[in-house]
Amino acid sequence: MERLVQKLQRIDGKSYTAYKDIAGDYFFPDFRLYIDHVQGDPFASPSRIRVRVAADRAGFPEELWNTRARQIGLEDYLARRIAGEIRKTTKGFRGTGKSGMIFIDSGGQEILQRTAVAVNREFVEARISVGLPAFGRKIAGKHALTMFTGELPKAVQNSLYYQKLPRDILHEYVFIKEDQEYIRKELLARKLVAFVANGSVLPRESGVSDLPLKGNVVPFQSPPELETEFILPNRGSVRGMGIPEGVTLIVGGGYHGKSTLLKALERGVYDHIPGDGRELTVTGETAVKIRAEDGRRVEKVDITPFINNLPHGRDTRTFSTEDASGSTSQAANIIEALEAGAGVLLLDEDTSATNFMIRDARMQELVAKDKEPITPFVDKVRQIYTELGVSTILVMGGSGDYFDVADLVIMMDEYRPADITERAREIAAAKPTERNPEGGRKFGTIKQRIPLQQSFQPQRGNKIRVDAKGLSTIVFGNTTIALAFQEQLVDASQTRAIADMILYMSKYRVDNRRTLNEIVDSVYQEIMEKGLEVLSPYFGKHPGDYAMPRKQEVLGAINRLRTLKIK
Ligand code: ADP
Ligand code: MG
Repeated sequence: MERLVQKLQRIDGKSYTAYKDIAGDYFFPDFRLYIDHVQGDPFASPSRIRVRVAADRAGFPEELWNTRARQIGLEDYLARRIAGEIRKTTKGFRGTGKSGMIFIDSGGQEILQRTAVAVNREFVEARISVGLPAFGRKIAGKHALTMFTGELPKAVQNSLYYQKLPRDILHEYVFIKEDQEYIRKELLARKLVAFVANGSVLPRESGVSDLPLKGNVVPFQSPPELETEFILPNRGSVRGMGIPEGVTLIVGGGYHGKSTLLKALERGVYDHIPGDGRELTVTGETAVKIRAEDGRRVEKVDITPFINNLPHGRDTRTFSTEDASGSTSQAANIIEALEAGAGVLLLDEDTSATNFMIRDARMQELVAKDKEPITPFVDKVRQIYTELGVSTILVMGGSGDYFDVADLVIMMDEYRPADITERAREIAAAKPTERNPEGGRKFGTIKQRIPLQQSFQPQRGNKIRVDAKGLSTIVFGNTTIALAFQEQLVDASQTRAIADMILYMSKYRVDNRRTLNEIVDSVYQEIMEKGLEVLSPYFGKHPGDYAMPRKQEVLGAINRLRTLKIK
């Protein structure tokens, strides 16, 4: 530590590049500090440092990290704790550009595997970014000294030592993830696709906030017919609504909470933090939200189950377009989701193409089938279940044509769900739709596509340029990937991981023989063995800020790469 102090004193007032001298590692009284990367100027991306505390000093009992779920829960909590302590102890920005900033990547409402904190048998390590302070291009050595010898140690002391932490809260974080994973696993065994615990708070504070709504909330209460119980390893008994496999319809008047329920189910593929309100709302891990996404690119997707006989005889067996329509984009989204192993499809009328969802008897009479390329979802949703074993949960307040194909109909009435399946069946029997089913009796098989190496061009000029810009954009060489309609992508650090994962695959896996699925699976296998760090070019040092994405979103990003070429 003395060495670092002397260096900072020596370079005080010098030109910014003299900061390069401080790279290296230093022993502090309570931890070891690694300065892995020193930024080139005050505006450049911040410098990367790591703080490592020996395990015996940190003192975390083994039962807090001896399972995968607990370890992720503990690491997630520690990142949040450090972030909170940094807010308390640092003065923040001072000087030019990012001067004075101290930052650790911590999560939102989800508990995700991330690289910000690592806990293992030997040490606890936090991966932190700092803006080395300067005025103009002159090193502000005294401020740097305060950051490294005052603020940082204080934040660390209050975060990385078990003795200093609020035990109840810490334990809740660690064990809540285990309970959620338990439910997710149990769903399969019980042939359920989702579970919403009684008392859950589903609505959010606003359309731009992921925090729970406060005040006038109707807590979730299962209809008696659907109520089921789980005995959780930590929390014990919980009761709530189980949605069985099959085709489930969510109906009800406008503004009665249909989309809110579906959104909670979309997010239920992730585990949530204590107090979120959805911490016991759990969906099968491969559930995929499907929506219309006009304008997207599509590369050789077989959309024939839904679309045939396009004008000018356009091929729909290997359908490609630079600019999909609402219905063709939704069809491609479904086929791609099935290719990526989706076990459940989640659809909302609010974000669907009407002509993809319904075609009623009158329209069938007016526009003959040979003039309509689209086979609506209502004629395919059952086949997707019976042939492929993939369930659907669909919000549909606007058309009763779906009564005929639903196994379960849930009505939202003033935010309270009711099982009205019987009533819907009676109505369906009394008032037939008089539609003719379209599109044949078979859905057909899903092809596994093989990407070509030429798809991936990460260079811009002669430099590799792969980067995430916030949550929903990836820059990949000269093109960008738009992910705004991948609604189950929740954290910008997932987007960063996806960007580097695509780069990693294109370097080491894409060989014009392996399928998209095989490629992505093999990278996940590697991550399982070596950690998310494996994606980083700085493996063994500060790996950058990654959070674990789902396979479905990774494949979703590749499918949206505008240069993708399929064999
Ligand atoms: P729908 O899709 O049925 O038209 P939404 O799900 O969009 O309705 O919900 C309408 C409004 O009601 C939203 O502002 C939402 O935040 C609010 N809301 C949803 N569920 C609840 C609830 N359980 N308690 C209180 N407000 C809710
Ligand atoms: Mg709605």
